[in-house]
Amino acid sequence: MSPDELKALVRTIPDFPKPGIQFRDITTLLIDGRGFAAAVDALVELARPYGADLIAGIEARGFIFSGPVARALGAGLLPVRKPGKLPGPRIGVDYALEYGTDRLEIHEGACVPGHRVLLVDDLIATGGTASATIRLLRESGATVPAALFVIDLPDLGGADLLREQGVEPHALMA
Ligand code: 5GP
Repeated sequence: MSPDELKALVRTIPDFPKPGIQFRDITTLLIDGRGFAAAVDALVELARPYGADLIAGIEARGFIFSGPVARALGAGLLPVRKPGKLPGPRIGVDYALEYGTDRLEIHEGACVPGHRVLLVDDLIATGGTASATIRLLRESGATVPAALFVIDLPDLGGADLLREQGVEPHALMA
């Protein structure tokens, strides 16, 4: 499947979840078997050269892609979760949203010094979510060489923010 065909499977919904926001909806890609497989395969090929031990998937849409990518690479899967979801001792990072703050957590000891971890999410916009996750993983001593996304919204600057942090961003479409 060509990059243009893949892109055509993502639809844009105006005014969701708030007026003025153009939401990129990936569910139309997910229900297309060829499209979902093509997206996962392309992410796997971008990830493979990094030799990752762990694939970190960001709740919730990041889970959809991180699982198959980890499986294809024979890497572990590290779920990065919203507060109140993980049962064991955990570490977290708070980060700013447009209004207020949010938090992401992983289990203590899930990620240790020496681990090579790649981040996977469906979309990067401002980069706030990915950047906070990278800080959390690095606080655990992990190396984070790259982050993979299905969609990059380049006008919002997220990919540049990751480069400033020393993380190489990759996306299947803009
Ligand atoms: P950022 O932190 O880069 O500003 O926003 C990225 C996060 O918000 C990702 O976890 C992503 O799932 C979600 N997100 C923001 N805007 C959109 C969108 O238009 N479509 C989808 N599918 N996710 C979005």
